[in-house]
Amino acid sequence: MLRIGLSGGIGAGKSTVSATFGELGGIVVDGDVIAREVVEPGTEGLAKLVDAFGKDILQDDGTLNRPALAAIAFSDEEKRKTLNGIVHPLVGRRREELIAAAAADAVIVEDIPLLVESGMAPMFPLVVIVHAEEDLRVQRLIEYRGFSEEDARARIATQATEEQRRAVADVWLDNAGSPEELVEKARELWHERILPFAHNVHDGRPARPEPVLVPYDSTWPDQARRAVARLNTACRHRAKRIDHIGSTAVPGMDAKDVIDIQVTVGSLEVADELRDALTGAGYVHRQHTADVGKSDARSTVAEFDRTNGEHMWHKRLHCSADPGRPTNVHLRVEGRPNQQFALLFVDWLRANPSAHSDYLALKRRVAQQGHESTDSYAEAKEPWFLDNYRRAWEWADETDWAP
Ligand code: ADP
Repeated sequence: MLRIGLSGGIGAGKSTVSATFGELGGIVVDGDVIAREVVEPGTEGLAKLVDAFGKDILQDDGTLNRPALAAIAFSDEEKRKTLNGIVHPLVGRRREELIAAAAADAVIVEDIPLLVESGMAPMFPLVVIVHAEEDLRVQRLIEYRGFSEEDARARIATQATEEQRRAVADVWLDNAGSPEELVEKARELWHERILPFAHNVHDGRPARPEPVLVPYDSTWPDQARRAVARLNTACRHRAKRIDHIGSTAVPGMDAKDVIDIQVTVGSLEVADELRDALTGAGYVHRQHTADVGKSDARSTVAEFDRTNGEHMWHKRLHCSADPGRPTNVHLRVEGRPNQQFALLFVDWLRANPSAHSDYLALKRRVAQQGHESTDSYAEAKEPWFLDNYRRAWEWADETDWAP
């Protein structure tokens, strides 16, 4: 199962996208629709509202009189809390029921108008935002949805800004053109990214990135920030820290277009406990694996300093199943030489232009040799690492580096 968060400012065109995903087989869970369902006549929700606010909130036919309820509930902070206390848990429960009933390989599309405002974006393996400029949205809201200009602008002003939406968007769907163009973009996204992502998660298969070196992409840090936020939500207290590591974290460095993230844990048992949570976040388990050990192992933690032994280099690896954003998630134990070196390496390259250019030259040389697999590419870089492991730690000692 893959859960997708779909949002956008009012009038952006979100309904078109969720309808398209629904036609293509997605199970659309629409917050607004559910909020109406849970207070229909005969529901527990409506009975509770009548208990709390009296029969005056009903129309003659027994359905909820929304303006009457709004007039009462929005007059007073306590009453608003009472209303939310009744409706929100019922909406949450219904949402969970719909999700639980879905098939294992289903794509759940959660249509959430206030996804950004409510801070829910990191709960989803993929966040899709529909966007249109404010004036265009206002025009459409007036023309098709009966808003006055004043109301439309007031609603927009209470919502998240474009910048806040961009910060959480894995996919940005621009709806400046015709509705047909938006449908076409949504269909393409579904077939090229969402469905393969869902199948990969279901089968426990990672996305296969192109094993080619590309020039530094200045959006990598933002993409990494979204992965870190998602991983924080998935791992919670079991992660001691989560860092963007590897070449994509070093400004100006060529790299394969794969974001590396390190999740620092207290033990590999904890890493194993995280397996389901990481899979749910779109990162499938790869292997019990180890980094290549160095004979002069170092750590700033006394317990691990100069502690050799193969198990010092063990880790767990999860990889993103999203074909649109290949990501490796390395779970390493706090204080062990491999966990420390991942952090040191990035700081050292960022701070030392000569190390930066040496490493860049090595990467380009190795890439030219045309290694078929990622493993042989990594192996070809290893002799350089054996030398430069010591060089990085010398810099760490000179500068009192701390992770
Ligand atoms: P949202 O669900 O994001 O609040 P809607 O999907 O309801 O916004 O879009 C607002 C209105 O604009 C709707 O009536 C919709 O039919 C219309 N609309 C959406 N996309 C376009 C478009 N590309 N061109 C013209 N009208 C559009």
